[in-house]
Amino acid sequence: MFFSKYFAMFSHIVKQIREIFGKNEGFIPLHEPKFVGNERKYVLDAIDSTFVSSVGEYVNRFEQQIKDYTGAKYAVACANGTSALHIALLLAGVKQNDLVICQPLTFIATCNALSYLGAEPVFVDIDKQTLGLSAEKLADFLEKETEIKENQCFFKKTNQKISACVPMHTFGHPTEIDKILEICKKYYINLIEDSAESLGSVYQGKQTGTFGLLGIYSLNGNKTITSGGGGVIVTDNEFLGKKAKHLTTQAKIPHAWEFAHDQIGYNYRMPNLNAAMAVAQMEKLDEFIENKRQLAEIYADFFEKTPFKFVTEPKNSRSIYWLNAILLKDRTERELFLEFMNKNGVMTRPSWQLMNELKMFENCHKANLENAIEIQNRLVNLPSSVRI
Ligand SMILES: *Cc1c(COP(=O)(O)O)cnc(C)c1O
Repeated sequence: MFFSKYFAMFSHIVKQIREIFGKNEGFIPLHEPKFVGNERKYVLDAIDSTFVSSVGEYVNRFEQQIKDYTGAKYAVACANGTSALHIALLLAGVKQNDLVICQPLTFIATCNALSYLGAEPVFVDIDKQTLGLSAEKLADFLEKETEIKENQCFFKKTNQKISACVPMHTFGHPTEIDKILEICKKYYINLIEDSAESLGSVYQGKQTGTFGLLGIYSLNGNKTITSGGGGVIVTDNEFLGKKAKHLTTQAKIPHAWEFAHDQIGYNYRMPNLNAAMAVAQMEKLDEFIENKRQLAEIYADFFEKTPFKFVTEPKNSRSIYWLNAILLKDRTERELFLEFMNKNGVMTRPSWQLMNELKMFENCHKANLENAIEIQNRLVNLPSSVRI
């Protein structure tokens, strides 16, 4: 019978995943946070200090940790990754009616953030190895569809300016960010890295998020480390670094007692209470990454003996494997897999619905998206929590 071969294989996978997580029964989530360090201590300390809101020592400490860890010259802690993206895009000069290049396989936050500025996404395909924006497809799109006028890039069909490009390091795996950067430079397009999922991932010896004009990380509850909610903007540009801090604090002119503001600002700073958690989680980041890389190795060995392809880190990179993934044969097999796993208490899920298929973005311009369509049909994410 058609289903019996699947049943045996899928049961085998459930058994293996339960063994990996040491859980013979009960629910195995996709990614749960781990608080095994100083989280309680620092949070209680923040409460005792009365500095629980957007000013406080933990905010400063967290920003210093991010700078030390990533090598970025400036780090600005934000309320979440989406607000960090919003400000990064604003600082990159994205304006009303502009186009911003995105990959269709991403989390909605990328497209939401650029929409807050009145810009529209234009979708360019992913690479099947990295699962992030394809450098080759990007170059092809820009060559065919755009023209340069006075050091600015315009989409020929509509004469809209293409002001930024936002590749995303999918599931923590680095994109070919060096090539993408080179292409963007050639076309006068600012590069913003959506490294929400890849804090700690390295490409050619350099941290993801530090290649572009600006980069962002997320510390949402499902990411590798979390502050409940949180995000960071990083940049090496002094003007942009200072401006990011200014804009996220209501554009208030620093003064001991005067309340004056010099432009429209945002209440986007990370509260000190969350920063207390973030500092404790940063102390654990390397240990978590080691742990996640070990898990990926176990998965890779296991899936080698199955018909399913385990997604491994691209070449020239060291991935944090935020979410592990396998590729199934097609959408039908994917549905059978998801149904079986989730019924048996092992949380698995498909990747996001492609952005260009959502009703808010279905009329946006797009290039050929064959890789994204194939990956979306075949990919499922597997339980990926740190095992401590
Ligand atoms: C998590 C995430 C974000 C930011 O999310 P927040 O929940 O706002 O912190 C942005 N982009 C991608 C690709 C993400 O996965």
